[in-house]
Amino acid sequence: MHKLILKPGREKSLKRRHPWIFSGGIDRVEGDPQAGDAVVVCAADGAALAVAAYSPQSQIRARVWDWTVHDIDAAFIAQRITRAAASRSALPAGVTDGLRLVHGESDGLPGIVADRYDDTVVVQLLSTGAERWRDVVADALAGLSGVVRVIERSDADVRALEGLQARSGLLRGAVANGPLMVTEHGLKFSVDAEHGHKTGFYLDQRDNRLALRKLARGKTVLDCFCYSGGFALNALAGGAAAVTAIDSSGPALETARINAALNQLSGAEWLEADVFKTLRAFRDAGRTFDLIVLDPPKLAPTAAHAEKAARAYKDINLLGFKLLNPGGMLMSYSCSGGISPDLFQKIVAGAALDAGVDARIEGWLHGAADHPVALNFPEGEYLKGLLLRVGV
Ligand code: SAH
Repeated sequence: MHKLILKPGREKSLKRRHPWIFSGGIDRVEGDPQAGDAVVVCAADGAALAVAAYSPQSQIRARVWDWTVHDIDAAFIAQRITRAAASRSALPAGVTDGLRLVHGESDGLPGIVADRYDDTVVVQLLSTGAERWRDVVADALAGLSGVVRVIERSDADVRALEGLQARSGLLRGAVANGPLMVTEHGLKFSVDAEHGHKTGFYLDQRDNRLALRKLARGKTVLDCFCYSGGFALNALAGGAAAVTAIDSSGPALETARINAALNQLSGAEWLEADVFKTLRAFRDAGRTFDLIVLDPPKLAPTAAHAEKAARAYKDINLLGFKLLNPGGMLMSYSCSGGISPDLFQKIVAGAALDAGVDARIEGWLHGAADHPVALNFPEGEYLKGLLLRVGV
C-alpha cells in the first residue's frame, strides 16, 4: 500500500485518534497514491498508525478510515454505512421520520453525510475518499430497509477544497411523484432536496425546535434566519401570541409558507430581509419581543474566520438583547465549527454587557442525537446554543 510518512512529533494528534492529517505534518509520500486512494499513515520511525483516504489538493491531506491497517474495500464501506444507520434505530417512534443516518467523521465515514426523509435518502459526498466510494455508498444506502431512492447533493463549497466539482441529482431509484416530506414532532415540513440548503432541511435543530414550542405559549416570538419555518411554526404550534420570521432567501420563505399551510398554522409574519438590517430597524422603531431565536448560517466555517465571525455574532446578539422585553428569552445559536462553545459564551456575554442587560443561562442546547460527536473529534460539535433569560 501507499504510505504517508509524518514528520517527527507530528503523530501526536493521530495517537489521540483525531482523524485528520494536515499537509504541514507530512514529511513524504511513498508510492503513487491518487485522490481517494487508501494510504497507510506512518510515524517518522515507520510505525503504522492508521489507514486513511488521500486528498492531494486539500490542506486536510488525509482522513482516517480505520486505526488498524488493512485494505479499504467495498465491504468495509458498506458495513460502516449499515452500522451508522443501525445506530439510529433507538430513536423513539413518533418523533420523526427524518433522521441523519451518517454524520461524517463521527460515524467513521469522513466526508459522508446522509439524511433520511421518510423513504428517501439525501447524501453529500464531501471528500475525495467519499467520492472514491460513491457507488458503494449509494448502493448501501439504497439497500437500507424502507429506502426507495437516493438523491445526491454533493454541491457544498467544501468540495472545491478537495479539488472536486459540484454534483447533484438522482443516484438510485426513481424520481418521486410529489415533494419530499418529513413529519417532526407532529409537524409536517416539505423538504426541498433539490435546491434547499444542505440536504434540504436542518434536522440537527429538531430537539431545539420542540424546546421552543414548549416556551412559546402566549409569547411574541421573533425567529431570525427562519429558513423553511422550523422554529416559527413550532412557536405557533406552542400557542405563541404572534410570530415574526425573517430570512433573506425568497425560496426558503416560499417553503415556509407552504409548511405553514400544511399544518394549518396561520398568522406568522414572514419577512424577506437581511436580519442584521431588520434588527436595527426594529430597534429604531422600538419594536420588542418576548422570545427571540437567532440561528444564523455558518459564519465561521473554519477557525481562520473566527474573528470576523465573532463580530457578527456579537452584533446580532447585542441587537437581540436590546429587542427583548423585560424577563424575555433569547435562544442563540452558532453552527460554526471554528467557534468553540467557550468562545461562543464569551461573545454572547460581551453582547449582553454592551446591551446593558443582565442575562443568565437557563440551558445549553445541542444538535440532536442523530448528529453524534465522536469524543476524539471535537469539530463534530459544530452546533451549540444558549438559552438565556434577561432580568425584569
Ligand atoms: N432555523 C432554521 C435554519 C436556519 S439556516 C431551521 O430550523 O430550519 C440559516 C438561514 O439564514 C438560511 O435560511 C439563510 O437563507 C439565512 N440567511 C443567511 N444570511 C442571512 C441574512 N443576512 N439575513 C437573513 N437571513 C439570512
